[in-house]
Amino acid sequence: MSGTRAPTRLREAGYQAEKEMKRMLIIGNGRVITRDEKNPYIDNGAVAIEGTTIKKVGSLDTIKNAYPDADFIDAKGKVIMPAFINAHEHIYSSFARGLSIKGYNPNGFLDILDGLWWTIDRNLTLEDTYLSAMATYIDCIKNGVTTIFDHHASFGAIRDSLFHIEKAAKETGVRSCLCYEISDRDGKDKARDSVMENAEFIRHALKDDSGMIAGMMGMHAQFTISDETMELAAANKPEGVGYHIHVAEGIEDLHHCLKHYGKRIVDRLMDWNILGEKTLLGHCIYINKHEMDLIKETNTMVVHNPESNMGNACGCPPTMELVHRGILTGLGTDGYTHDMTESYKVANVLHKHHLCDATAAWSEVPQMLFEGNAKIAERYFNQTLGALKEGAVGDVIVVDYDPLTPLNADNCNGHILFGVSGQSVVTTVANGKILMKDRELQHIDEAKVMADCRQAAAELGNRINK
Ligand SMILES: [Zn+2]
Repeated sequence: MSGTRAPTRLREAGYQAEKEMKRMLIIGNGRVITRDEKNPYIDNGAVAIEGTTIKKVGSLDTIKNAYPDADFIDAKGKVIMPAFINAHEHIYSSFARGLSIKGYNPNGFLDILDGLWWTIDRNLTLEDTYLSAMATYIDCIKNGVTTIFDHHASFGAIRDSLFHIEKAAKETGVRSCLCYEISDRDGKDKARDSVMENAEFIRHALKDDSGMIAGMMGMHAQFTISDETMELAAANKPEGVGYHIHVAEGIEDLHHCLKHYGKRIVDRLMDWNILGEKTLLGHCIYINKHEMDLIKETNTMVVHNPESNMGNACGCPPTMELVHRGILTGLGTDGYTHDMTESYKVANVLHKHHLCDATAAWSEVPQMLFEGNAKIAERYFNQTLGALKEGAVGDVIVVDYDPLTPLNADNCNGHILFGVSGQSVVTTVANGKILMKDRELQHIDEAKVMADCRQAAAELGNRINK
């Protein structure tokens, strides 16, 4: 008897595996903006996802007829588009909201770093880091962001911090490229710990084949990293990944480099072999044309964070020139918000204002947000992102936007710029999994996470102000 039962069980397991493999989800009955130049806009369209990957995009009838048994999310005429990507995020800054630090009265960018951000990160426990990540990921999902590049610091609890963030990433379902910001600001031992945390996490991420986790060698900024620590980082960086570092965010960073090393920042990074196609430079406000040449020649990536630069009164980077030179440039939030449409709106007006040119930034900023960020993410996740087309990852959002003027492939960016905010996102799907439906998170007890966050944030504030 056992001889006949075993194969039956095997057959059943096989059927089950096949059924799982072919699980289909259709998101349809909406205006589809695909970011696929062959088929950029469908007035009443649908997207079919098989497992984690987009199988087919087309008219609603075509897709429904092709997959009659698929699960169906009815967009009810709303806009269906690829989920957003955030190319520079800071999970550790979550608990800064509403925090008042005794004696904090900054006089310039360095005071903001030391008095606010470094004070917070020195006081974070591993549990705080995990909860900060949960809160950030929840906000990402609610703003339609399903892929982030995070830049982490928690100098009071360095080891294992990236693994705590990864735990939150897996629980929430947001694709994440993580790194820890190496710095000598708290001494050599902590600098070494931060190098090792990166190295350990990168090795772990390189073995992960889910397509949802990646790692980079994080660095704070050249002005807090000695040559000795640069050497340690280079010696411990696994092959196949690059660096994620703030570059010339403040003029102080440039002055420091000239004074201590007799060279400009990008030259110093070049000399340490930090530039390259897997390396992401944040900000790049005070760089000259020679440095732009180096960035371009090495195919290094740049991420612009307009709200943060304005809020810290750091200056306006030459981002339009970077884009015009063909440097792969993306858009981030720098932890300022988790809403990529805010970065879009602010970058749009910042560069017009700065250049006294009302025609500036119309095409460059959406290019950064919709093409640049996807290309940056593809260098780490080795899949097609940021597009609704066959073979791309199943990252799709439904946006509650009812256009009052005709919407088409040529003007959809104008509609998004002036008509859509992150809060307009009603449904978020990442890697084929429904994370939020009709503004309800599907797998997370949001009220409990928020209550835990409020308690941890209050305790953090008490520790800082004791
Ligand atoms: Zn940053």
